[in-house]
Amino acid sequence: MAKTDKPIESFNSLLEVYDYFTDEQKCLNYLATQRWDGVIICPHCSNDKVYCFSDNKRFKCAKCREQFTAKVGTIFEDSKIPLRKWYIAIYLVTSHKKGISSHQLAKDIKVTQKTAWFMLQRIRFGLGANEDMTELEGTIELDESFVGGKNKNRHADKKVENSQGRSFKDKTPVMGMLQEQIVANVERPHKVIKGKTVNEKMVVQKSVVRCRVVPDTKSASLQPIIRENVKADSVLVSDEWWAYQGLNDKYDHRIVDHRAKEYVNANGDTTNAMEGFWTGLKRAYIGIYHHVSRKHLQFYVNEVTFRYNTRTMSEGDRITYTMTKTEGRLKYKQLIAKK
Ligand SMILES: [Zn+2]
Repeated sequence: MAKTDKPIESFNSLLEVYDYFTDEQKCLNYLATQRWDGVIICPHCSNDKVYCFSDNKRFKCAKCREQFTAKVGTIFEDSKIPLRKWYIAIYLVTSHKKGISSHQLAKDIKVTQKTAWFMLQRIRFGLGANEDMTELEGTIELDESFVGGKNKNRHADKKVENSQGRSFKDKTPVMGMLQEQIVANVERPHKVIKGKTVNEKMVVQKSVVRCRVVPDTKSASLQPIIRENVKADSVLVSDEWWAYQGLNDKYDHRIVDHRAKEYVNANGDTTNAMEGFWTGLKRAYIGIYHHVSRKHLQFYVNEVTFRYNTRTMSEGDRITYTMTKTEGRLKYKQLIAKK
């Protein structure tokens, strides 16, 4: 096996991505494998009887007779930017702890800033459109945060007197649900004494977060999202915000009274992990973005959420995983449309 042909899962630097994806054909082949794994499906009619043209790029469906490449139906469709640049962009945005600005990306891969922005938005769109929708379970921390707004409000704590901070007119509310890490008792052989076993607490799943930009923080906006995303009988932990009242029919809802400066209640319940996520989100936002409109905030949130949820993956695993999140199209017209 040539040096550059080691499996992508083992990559741990940008250099390897750069060296591996030397030309468009190699990139297309990789995309086809990631999407179809040998059984090519027509993106127009989902038929699986497909012919390949001798150029090795185009396919033709035996049923609907449409032609297509591996890019059709993905975020790369209709893009004139070489896939190599796309893959580098994907690497940069998902592996940099705070993401990358469109200005920086434009310089790094030699495209215009407008193109870089559009690429980033498409990547973020894909991350959201292909989000793992498995119901959250166990203990779920609930909280909202307010993002963006004028500079003078940027660093303001969300707890504003008399309003509980839930009323910044120029900020956009985001609803967050964080599934706390799942720990289980695992029996394993004793390391020294033969035949003896020990019980050990082990993290079987790291914490996972899911966020939605919401129009406001009323219960009619928050509760349907919770009910859709969290498995029945899970434990919910939130602060005293009234909009969370009434969830006990399906869940075990526990409250941490932030008004009373309580951050861990008598039961040991807390929303500290969710708060920590918001801190990271805001730090990244301030570091890289000058302003994200309400309309585009969900894209940005998709990106930060994805980075959080893949934080313990190796670079190679993350690239491979991200490439499964490229289904779906986002047209420039849609992106810049007023509504
Ligand atoms: Zn077809």
